[in-house]
Amino acid sequence: CLLLSTVGVQGSGYLKYKDPKQPLNTRIDDLLSRMSLAEKIGQMSQIERSVATPDVIKNDYIGSVLSGGGSVPAPQATAQEWASMVTEMQKAALSTPLGIPIIYGIDAVHGHGNVYKATIFPHNVGLGATRDPELAKKIGSAVALEVRATGIPYIFAPCVAVCRDPRWGRCYESFSEDPKVVQMMTQIIPGFQGEAPPSSRGRPYVAGTRNVAACAKHYVGDGGTNKGINENNTIINFHGLLKIHMPPYYNAVINSVSTIMVSYTSWNGVKMHANHFLVTDFLKNKLKFRGFVISDWQGLDRITSPAGSDYHLSIKLGVLAGIDMIMIPFNYMDFIGNLTSLVHDNTIPMSRIDDAVRRILRVKFTMGLFENPLPDPSLAGELGKQEHRDLAREAVRKSLVLLKNGKYGEKPVLPLPKKCGKILVAGSHADNLGNQCGGWTITWQGLQGNNLTAGTTILEGIKSTVDGSAQVVYSEEPSPDFVQKGVFNYAIVVVGEPPYSETQGDNLNLTIPAPGPSVIETVCSNVKCIVVLISGRPLVIEPYINKIDAFVAAWLPGTEGKGVADVLFGDYGFTGKLSRTWFKSVDQLPMNVGDPHYDPLFPFGFGLETHPSY
Ligand code: BGC
Repeated sequence: CLLLSTVGVQGSGYLKYKDPKQPLNTRIDDLLSRMSLAEKIGQMSQIERSVATPDVIKNDYIGSVLSGGGSVPAPQATAQEWASMVTEMQKAALSTPLGIPIIYGIDAVHGHGNVYKATIFPHNVGLGATRDPELAKKIGSAVALEVRATGIPYIFAPCVAVCRDPRWGRCYESFSEDPKVVQMMTQIIPGFQGEAPPSSRGRPYVAGTRNVAACAKHYVGDGGTNKGINENNTIINFHGLLKIHMPPYYNAVINSVSTIMVSYTSWNGVKMHANHFLVTDFLKNKLKFRGFVISDWQGLDRITSPAGSDYHLSIKLGVLAGIDMIMIPFNYMDFIGNLTSLVHDNTIPMSRIDDAVRRILRVKFTMGLFENPLPDPSLAGELGKQEHRDLAREAVRKSLVLLKNGKYGEKPVLPLPKKCGKILVAGSHADNLGNQCGGWTITWQGLQGNNLTAGTTILEGIKSTVDGSAQVVYSEEPSPDFVQKGVFNYAIVVVGEPPYSETQGDNLNLTIPAPGPSVIETVCSNVKCIVVLISGRPLVIEPYINKIDAFVAAWLPGTEGKGVADVLFGDYGFTGKLSRTWFKSVDQLPMNVGDPHYDPLFPFGFGLETHPSY
C-alpha cells in the first residue's frame, strides 16, 4: 500500500483521496492539500439549479446545487428527466482537475414533494400524532429511495423544530410542541440515511446509493418565536433553549445526521446565522457534530438588515460563526469574490475555510459520492411506487386523531357502517388533492385542485370503501335546502386550511377559512355529521364543537386519501394522539403542555380510540 501510493503519486496517476481503501481522514487530508483557495470556496458554495450551468459548475468549482421549493426542471418532469439534469451537472463537476462531485440537495419534507407522481406522506405534525418512530424510519427509507430515483443524494429534512405557537406558518413542519415527541421522531434520520453501524454512530453516515444525506433544521429555536412570527426572535434563556429547542439536535447528532441547517431566526436578538457560540462552540465543539453546517436560503444576506445591505459583513459574520456551506443561491460571483477577499486580508483565517471544506468532503466521502457520483438508473421505478403509497396510507391512518365521537349522552358515531345508506360528503377539502397535501407540494406554496400529481382524494377514498349498496352524494358547498331534502343518513364534512408555507402561513386568527364554518353549520344542523379538519395545526373549533357529532383532526395527510376512509369506516381503529395542544381561543396562545395556565379544549396527548369494526 505504501509502495503503491508513492509510486502512484509520481507515476500511474494514483490519487490517495480517490482510493476508498484509504482511511477517511487520509483521503480528506490528501484532497485538501491539493486544493486551491478557489476550489475550497467553490466547495462551500451551494447555488440554485437555474444558474447551475455546466460551465459555472466547472469554472467556479461549485460544490453543491439545490432545487429550492418548487424549482423543478419541468412541471411534470419524470424521474429520468430529473436524473439526467443531475447527471449533466455532475459530469461538469467531475471534469474539473480534482473531480470533486457536487452534492445536489432538495426539500423532500413530506416525501419527494417537488416531483410529479411522488408519494406524498403526511406532514410532520401528523407523523407526530402517530408517536411511531418505527413508522418514521420506514417513511425515511421510502423517501430516500424516491429521491434517489431522481438522481438526488441529499435532502433538507427533517425539520426538527419544536413549534411552540401554532400561529407560526411552519408549524406543520414540526412533529410536536413537545421536544420528547420530536426527539422520538428523529428516527426518520436513520431511515433517510440508513442505520449507522456502532462504529459510525455520532458521525455523518449514509449507507449507500439507496439512501440520502439528511439535514436537521433549522438550528435552533425556529419554533419559539414571539407569536409564531416566521424568521423572528426567540426570546428564551440558555436553560430554556437547552430544554425545549435543543433536544432534537442531540438525537440528530447521535443518529449520525450528515448536515444541519441554521435558522433564519435570532436567539435573544442575535441572528442564528451569526451565532458563533451556538454554531461553533456548542454544536461543533460541545455536541461534536462532525458533518457540515449549511445556511438557509440567502441566510447570510439576512444577517444584515435590510437583507443584503452589507453582504461583505454578512459573509464575514456567517463564515466566522461556523457556517460551512452557503445556500447562496443566485449571486455566487458576489459570494465568491467577497469570501476570497476576506481570506486574502486575513479577516477569515484559512483554518476556518479548511474546517468548512473538511466537513463537506467528509460527508461526500462517507456517503460514497466519489465512488458513485452518478444517478443509478435502476432506481427510477421507486418513484411513487405502490409499496410507498401503502406505507403513506398506513401513516395517514395512524396520524388521524379522533377528538369527539358522539354528542354528550349519545352513542359513538364512528366507525361508520360501510352499509351507510345515503351519505353526504361536503366541504372544500373533500375532493382536493392540493388541499390535502398542503405546502411544499409541487410548488413552494403548494397547489389547489386535483391535477397537480397522482393520488387519491378523501372523497375517492370514501367511494372506494363503502358498500355497493351505499349512495355517496358529493356537494362542495350544499345549500340548507339540499341538505334537508336529501334525507342523508350521515354527512362527512371535510374543511380546513388552503396550502401555504413559511411566512405566508403565519396567521394570528387561526379560524377555519370560509366557507368552512358555514358548511359545518348547514350540514351539522340537519344531519348526523362527522367533521374532518385538514390543517397544519389546531384551528378554532370551539364555537362549533357542540353541533358536531364526531370530530377528526386529519392534519395534512398527503396523496393517500384512502387512509382517511380506512379509519372512518372501521377497517382500522383510531389510534392517533395530539402532538399539539388544542386551544379554545387564540387569546390563550402560546399555550403548551406543562404551562401553569393550561386550559385547553383538548389537551396534548388526547385522542379517542376505536376498534376496527370487523
Ligand atoms: C427554508 C428552508 C428550505 C430552503 C430551501 C428556505 O426558505 O427556510 O427550510 O430548506 O428554503 O428551499
